[in-house]
Amino acid sequence: MASKINQYDVAIVGFGLIGQICAKVCSQYNLKTLVIESRSDTEFSSNAVSFDDESLRLLECIGLYDALKAYLNKPDFTDIILTNGKVIQRNPVLNTDNDFPSICTFFPPEIEKTIREICKADENIDLLFDNELINFNFNENKVGLDTKSNNKLKYFEAHYLIACDGANSFVRNKLDIESVDQRYSKNWLLIDILLKHKDSLENVFRQICDDKRPTSYISLSNRRHRFEFQLLAGEQHQKIIQKNNIQNLISKWIEPNQYEIENISIQNFRGSFAKTFQKNNIFLIGDSAYQMPPYASQGLNTGIRDILNLIWKINLVVNFNCNKKLLLSYDLERAQPIKQTIKSSIALGQLIDSLSMAFQKNIPLEEAIAPEARDQAFGRNKNIEERNPKKGIFSHSHSEMTINRRLSNREITDKQGIACLDKMVGNCFAIFSKKDVRNKLNENIYEKLIKLNFKFIFDYSNLNIGPELSEYLETGEVIIRPDKKIYGLSSTGLDINKLVSELLMQIE
Ligand SMILES: Cc1cc2nc3c(=O)[nH]c(=O)nc-3n(C[C@H](O)[C@H](O)[C@H](O)COP(=O)(O)OP(=O)(O)OC[C@H]3O[C@@H](n4cnc5c(N)ncnc54)[C@H](O)[C@@H]3O)c2cc1C
Repeated sequence: MASKINQYDVAIVGFGLIGQICAKVCSQYNLKTLVIESRSDTEFSSNAVSFDDESLRLLECIGLYDALKAYLNKPDFTDIILTNGKVIQRNPVLNTDNDFPSICTFFPPEIEKTIREICKADENIDLLFDNELINFNFNENKVGLDTKSNNKLKYFEAHYLIACDGANSFVRNKLDIESVDQRYSKNWLLIDILLKHKDSLENVFRQICDDKRPTSYISLSNRRHRFEFQLLAGEQHQKIIQKNNIQNLISKWIEPNQYEIENISIQNFRGSFAKTFQKNNIFLIGDSAYQMPPYASQGLNTGIRDILNLIWKINLVVNFNCNKKLLLSYDLERAQPIKQTIKSSIALGQLIDSLSMAFQKNIPLEEAIAPEARDQAFGRNKNIEERNPKKGIFSHSHSEMTINRRLSNREITDKQGIACLDKMVGNCFAIFSKKDVRNKLNENIYEKLIKLNFKFIFDYSNLNIGPELSEYLETGEVIIRPDKKIYGLSSTGLDINKLVSELLMQIE
């Protein structure tokens, strides 16, 4: 859509997958959004090949899942194996409590193209391709943005700037935000192939602790597959990308006459994070804020969790006149889980290297890998998020066990067994209770909640309540944030009016 105005609620710089999904979430909240992208409409930037169930859940909530599902592939399982085929770890890909598979793979251009077309048709989004952000300045209330397209300069203003401009972020550099290097750096060769006949390779997501070079094999659809090979010290990039070398590397799986090569690149896998993800009304999300090696497939998924954390807060400030200070919770809530995810991703890479080495040198695996290294590498991300200490927009009157947990979509199911918590809560805060809680609320508190679009959920006829929510409802009322995380629980010692007042103090 052509730009008609130059004053926006939100400006997003960078239209990779994170910028695209962020723009769609902003639109969902009715935020007037400008997107500035230096590439043309026909170029794509993403390396990511998978979404996890939490990301799929968000895509469903913003109406993208149906459009994308034709391009999503559910692998039979994910595994880590040795050169001789011995399985170190294997997990079947099953539907989780969110009602989505634990992982779905895809061919990135198909996903980017689809979301791009949907954003183009969106009235809340103005998209500028071939426009580079070349400068910006900011004060308490707005950000001024200078863009350049073929020597033509333009100027825009927005209340908030969201940097989705990738690993070499212009915004992060201009703000002089330092990056903390996690001292991990490996070059990998990436090859995407298209099979001439479908189904001639396994449908799996596999890491191979190859004793010559660690390798990944990922099925993206029944015809498209990705191979990733770690480069060895001193290996020349020009030589490794030659066609006969690539055919040789892939020959273990498939003969050259059975496929076409669609894409070849060399990528540096590394770990680093910005010292802060926020300066005034400017936010860093996705790769602009941090990089992690993709062994655990979490870079894009973590960026999607950033979006899930940030945009409902901007919505409260812009559309509900809430206190700007609540936005400070973005950095507070995200920093810890992001650092843990980077640590786990690096640990998984190191584990794969150690297993490859142990196999090569015939060392027993238990001796080669310390149990803590395994735990770190296989640390589940949901737990990492939940271990985040008590910071941000949560009740401070609670044990950390309850707050900051995201209620799964299946905590409420309908008669057909279909998960429906997300549909019931929508984009708002909600209070779950056994009986109508509105009679218990003080009048002025109730009025405030109505203005903030709170949902009151107490009628569960024809619905099933899951074990977690049932247990909480035995204790009292449950307040859920728009990202479905638990804000807090009332109890005999903590009246619902007190709990709500605590929340209002944090956001008003
Ligand atoms: C091999 C590999 C495999 C991966 N697999 C997975 C996976 O399976 N699952 C997963 O979750 N993650 C995965 N990741 C990580 C994932 O690819 C990234 O985290 C994610 O794609 C980052 O997206 P982004 O939109 O933040 O950045 P980018 O995709 O880099 O997009 C940045 C955009 O900003 C634009 N831009 C930059 N500067 C400017 C400017 N000044 N003005 C205007 N526009 C600008 C660029 O043109 C670009 O389009 C993988 C990464 C690699 C390398």
